[in-house]
Amino acid sequence: MSEVTVTPAVLILLGPPGAGKGTQARMLEQSAGLVQLSTGDLLRAAVAAGTEAGQQAKAVMEAGGLVSDGIVLAILKDRMAAPDTAQGVILDGFPRTAPQAKALDALLAASGQRVTAVISMEVEDAPMIARVAGRFTCATCGEGYHDEYTHPRLGGFCYNWCGTAFNRRADDTAETAGARLAAYHAQTAPLIAYYEGRGVLHRVDAMQGIDMVAGAMSDIVNRVSG
Ligand code: ADP
Ligand code: AMP
Repeated sequence: MSEVTVTPAVLILLGPPGAGKGTQARMLEQSAGLVQLSTGDLLRAAVAAGTEAGQQAKAVMEAGGLVSDGIVLAILKDRMAAPDTAQGVILDGFPRTAPQAKALDALLAASGQRVTAVISMEVEDAPMIARVAGRFTCATCGEGYHDEYTHPRLGGFCYNWCGTAFNRRADDTAETAGARLAAYHAQTAPLIAYYEGRGVLHRVDAMQGIDMVAGAMSDIVNRVSG
């Protein structure tokens, strides 16, 4: 019997802060069996742990700028080397610059892989400030909520019954969200054309409700992995 080699999927979610990348990545983890890899989460963990990279990244993140490619790539490579990523990954918030995209191509090529699909989550700018400024997450499981759109259960319990403790990010203010949006347009949005030219780009209207967006994303994932 001939052996079948399944190449793990590498899915990229592109979109400005508030587009719903984290929300959708968590849903795809459940439905597609991929592992969410958020460079924002990795950087926040480095800041909390007080590592050298974390100390260098802290002020930039608080101001809403982009952390240097060198720091981000070192953190990403480290995470990609962990065994759980072998089942396929959803990159949430990475790449964010052209050098990061090229470094990712080289990293994947070294193990015979390539980017499977890039989903551009298309949204309008103004509502993104409100989405970011109103968001909070369960302190235990990371489930995302929003002051206006997505509330915890009656009594303030997380939907996964973790408890009633929630976190708000220090950079989730209207002012910082504006700076992050500007960084997205200047440095990340050009990646849409980069991946379009490579024939791996898919666009989703991410102004729709969460479940509608999830349906459109699942259709794409099923198509590219089918
Ligand atoms: P990102 O990871 O792209 O920064 P999030 O997934 O954290 O964005 O979403 C930002 C906020 O907007 C969260 O509070 C989330 O619950 C909410 N949200 C996500 N997707 C939608 C949507 N399609 N419609 C309305 N609110 C949404
Ligand atoms: P996020 O959690 O994706 O919203 O990212 C939070 C912050 O972390 C960003 O505003 C940046 O300061 C930093 N960050 C996350 N990912 C990257 C990346 N790929 N490149 C540069 N900075 C990043």
